[in-house]
Amino acid sequence: MYTTQAWAKAAADSDFKKIDIQRNLCGEEDVTFAVKYCGICHSDVHVAEDHLKPVRSTNYPCVPGHELAGLVTEVGTKVTAYKVGDMVGVGCISDSCLACPTCNTGNEHACQAGMTGTYNGETKHGHIATDKSWTFGGYSNSQTVHQRFIIKIPPGFPLEAAGPVFCAGITMFSPLKEWGAHRGGLRVGIVGIGGLGQMGVQLARAMGNTVTAISTSPNKKAVAKEIGADTFVVSTDPESMRAAAMSCDLILNTVSVSHELGTYLPLLAMRGTIVQLGVAMNAHAVYQLPLMMRKLRVTGSTIGGMLETQECIDFCHRHKIVPRIKLVTADALLDIYKMLNSKNDSVVRNVLDIEASK
Ligand code: NAP
Ligand code: ZN
Repeated sequence: MYTTQAWAKAAADSDFKKIDIQRNLCGEEDVTFAVKYCGICHSDVHVAEDHLKPVRSTNYPCVPGHELAGLVTEVGTKVTAYKVGDMVGVGCISDSCLACPTCNTGNEHACQAGMTGTYNGETKHGHIATDKSWTFGGYSNSQTVHQRFIIKIPPGFPLEAAGPVFCAGITMFSPLKEWGAHRGGLRVGIVGIGGLGQMGVQLARAMGNTVTAISTSPNKKAVAKEIGADTFVVSTDPESMRAAAMSCDLILNTVSVSHELGTYLPLLAMRGTIVQLGVAMNAHAVYQLPLMMRKLRVTGSTIGGMLETQECIDFCHRHKIVPRIKLVTADALLDIYKMLNSKNDSVVRNVLDIEASK
């Protein structure tokens, strides 16, 4: 094991403190890298503040962060795809069984034995270890993972903006592909123009679709249009919602709090699909008639496998899609969490600058 530093919460309501953590040394199939930047996902808040209890309780100390980007410092003897100095990243998955049919078809996130998340994940598959029985995430100076969970950042892609592609980006890219938007020509709605939503707008547009940004924040209209939205709908304004009735074939819903998905069903056209992506813990009450009359589908999706995540950053690079970010230091973490809890009111992903935080 080696010791490195990390920013951790000792309890759901505590502030972040710098602590020493232990990680496994770089084994023959592993890659170790200096974490330079780590995006701050709304999921970090849900987990660090124990919002998922009792479904999935949080272990403390908790080191969040699953949008890591950095530079390789060591590779194992069996690793040929990466070398010291390469720009690499890690997303939401840090281990899985690597043997089941799901892992073997590139869907490590849906591993039949249960994938190990980059933080608060049970270290049960044996390819990653800490001094506890759970993983520590990317608010940290260094990370070591099996090469299967490393993503190559294309040369020229801005390192500080790469991390958000590995969670926010893939979480939108995967359902866009799953429900046919990668072929273009669909009318795609994106609900919630925050960290995930801004990637959804950019990706859906680059794939050749018409994009509607659906937001509770009228102040986001200009930026939403600048990044590719053709239409902007204010979901709290009945007139704006009426004007957009039945105008979307596919809606990706990123709302991060309890809400009624029925709010968005009137926006779906015949045979439309809504994909639930936010970690809302409430059950939804849905009127059946719209589902019946227009053959609507309600479904969900979560991140994506390693091959698809690589495909996502390569797609972003080819199409010059760069997440809109703001660099912050660790002393601002608690304020950013407060802001995300009340509402991400700007179209940015905050990114922790590790060097500047030390
Ligand atoms: P975020 O930056 O906070 O964005 C969420 C957006 O939801 C806000 O910007 C806001 O957009 C909208 N919103 C907030 N409160 C709302 C309310 N009361 N009613 C309606 N809309 C509201 O969060 P994020 O990082 O994009 O993550 C979004 C959600 O996805 C979180 O729950 C996160 O945990 C989850 N997530 C899921 C996956 C997955 O694999 N499925 C992966 C990553 C994250 P407007 O201002 O535009 O309304
Ligand atoms: Zn995330």
